[in-house]
Amino acid sequence: MKYIVKAPAKINLSLDVLHKRDDGYHEVEMVMTTVDLADRIEITEVSKDAVFVDVSKGIVPSDHQNLAYQAAMLLKKRFGVRKGVHLYIHKHIPVSAGLAGGSTNAAATLRGLNKLWGLGLSIDELAELGSEIGSDVPFCVYGGTALATGRGEKIEKLSTPPPCWVVLAKPPIGVSTKEIYGNLNLNDIAHPNTEAVIEAINQGDFERICSSLGNAMEATTFSLYPKVDNLKKQMENFGADGVLMSGSGPTVFALAKNESRAWRIYNGLKGFVDQVYAVRLLSE
Ligand code: ATP
Repeated sequence: MKYIVKAPAKINLSLDVLHKRDDGYHEVEMVMTTVDLADRIEITEVSKDAVFVDVSKGIVPSDHQNLAYQAAMLLKKRFGVRKGVHLYIHKHIPVSAGLAGGSTNAAATLRGLNKLWGLGLSIDELAELGSEIGSDVPFCVYGGTALATGRGEKIEKLSTPPPCWVVLAKPPIGVSTKEIYGNLNLNDIAHPNTEAVIEAINQGDFERICSSLGNAMEATTFSLYPKVDNLKKQMENFGADGVLMSGSGPTVFALAKNESRAWRIYNGLKGFVDQVYAVRLLSE
């Protein structure tokens, strides 16, 4: 038996860092939404009782460090599954990009194996398990649009924002979230207005979503990697309705209500950055 599952990337419409907790995690408040830029995972049953992973991009580990591998092993151990699978990950989402590529692979693996192995777990139960793998995994299990709080693992679903185009551009650098957290000065941080983003989504007010976008990590990433700051300015100049860095970067996304504007931004950027994508928001 073979399953193919889709693992879409996320962007942050708002990302706030509130404080550092005693357990070492940062307390965050994020509005996340899935976009139609996705990896594809082919899940194939194998006769050996083990999990094998292959990835189409060599920079992603295919051993125990792979989050999809960790997801499969977690299900096997927790539910005593004595079966084996091979996971082939067709990577389309840029890596170390602020788009939750690893987390969405873990979430898709949880969903796919839940079906393949007939475990009958609910989405809430899968999200709970996902939180043991990484803070962004629960959101990726649900997909759609949501407010994520705690260390990112507490999810409240939000309504779907008005349809629009999302142009994503990733400069040729990898940024680790750990590095940005390590350089954040929590006493001097520009907090976004997350409440305004949520209200705008509830009202279906695209212009207000665009004017309320904010990311508390931008200033730190920009100071370490000025290229990312330049990219954001360029996207604004190309006529985006709203522009923001996703996660800890370096991917910057532009929102555009109309298609011709999205392609103008896309074509304008193509000359400067190799990795550019024009996609739609996903409602689920
Ligand atoms: P983070 O916010 O955790 O830095 P990100 O979205 O910016 O996430 P990812 O693409 O998830 O970046 O990659 C972060 C790290 O996770 C990389 O070092 C990568 O090698 C590792 N990783 C583990 N499993 C995967 C996977 N299935 N796909 C992509 N990266 C993975």
